[in-house]
Amino acid sequence: MSIPYGRQTVTSADIEAVIAVLNGDCLTQGPAVPEFEQAVAAYCGAAHGAAANSATSALHLACLALGVGPGDRVWTSPITFVASANCARQCGAEVDFVDIDARTWNMSVRALESKLAEARSAGQLPAVVIPVHLSGLPCDMVAIADLSVEYGFRIIEDAAHGLGGSFADSRIGSCAYSDITVFSFHPVKSITTGEGGMALTNDGPLAACLKRLRSHGRDADGLQRELGFNYRMTDIQAALGRSQLARLDAFVAQRASLADRYDRAFADLPVRRQVVPSRSVSAHHLYLLRVAAAQRDLLWKHLRAAGIATPLHYPPVYLQPYYRELGYSSGLCAEAEAYAREAVTLPLFPGLSMCDQDRVINVCRSALGGH
Ligand SMILES: *Cc1c(COP(=O)(O)O)cnc(C)c1O
Repeated sequence: MSIPYGRQTVTSADIEAVIAVLNGDCLTQGPAVPEFEQAVAAYCGAAHGAAANSATSALHLACLALGVGPGDRVWTSPITFVASANCARQCGAEVDFVDIDARTWNMSVRALESKLAEARSAGQLPAVVIPVHLSGLPCDMVAIADLSVEYGFRIIEDAAHGLGGSFADSRIGSCAYSDITVFSFHPVKSITTGEGGMALTNDGPLAACLKRLRSHGRDADGLQRELGFNYRMTDIQAALGRSQLARLDAFVAQRASLADRYDRAFADLPVRRQVVPSRSVSAHHLYLLRVAAAQRDLLWKHLRAAGIATPLHYPPVYLQPYYRELGYSSGLCAEAEAYAREAVTLPLFPGLSMCDQDRVINVCRSALGGH
């Protein structure tokens, strides 16, 4: 039996919640979506939530709501899923990439600071910066928020991996250090709605704008104010999400305990893990390891041969053919490129049995020379 890198956990309570919607009057635009929005916002300590049919849509809405358009610049991390950068392109803006930190593998604050100083001299400052909480480990939001004041950019947190994580005394999603935070509810993420996403914010007018744009640009009064989309979540999905949210803390605890088991199994091997800064709690979306580049491809082949499906998270976004076509090439972010040669993702999800995890551990130990 092959082992995926991530998968959902669905219970009979989840199924009952979905059936209740199917038996009711509103499959979409009923009460379930606002209830789910309020529940996620309350969990995170944010004022408003705007659900969407994916995090990709929510990121697009977030950029539009902050006024991103042609002529603007948006910066993100190169080590992320392509959607973190695509949202800017969908608004007609230019994208650029800030190298990662060698210890946390999140956007480097030092690299951001020096890139900002250069951009200021060149008159090319970004309108928006999108930090990504890689694997659910929070970025240094306090420092990034300080820079946003100094350089005048807005912040969207791509927290597709981050629901359930926290930094200092705030949960990821509180928007204490950003304008908008976006979550994903794809089946591999912390909780699922099938497809789905949500943008959180503490800004009332911004929340109204996100909700207007996701539904044809129409206001609550039914008048179309601007050009929008149909990016709505259904009530069927929201009911599943709300039922899943009740188990979020248990999911994150299970992920943490499996991650800890991997940590202990690899303690004597020449591998590197993300360094967790003090007062940061990861949501443990992915279990990422770095091994010597020469060993990485061998390890990856052994995992594949053993039926362990491990996509590589992630090649630098700017090396995708689409971005190369726009003029990017290797050499832009040295640390990100080193990361991409060394990183491996191991299976991590709440339903992963210890027996399957031991299979993964044994393949890694034998490929990396442990006994
Ligand atoms: C999964 C993911 C997304 C997109 O989420 P969808 O809900 O599938 O659109 C965006 N950013 C990151 C970092 C992701 O991992």
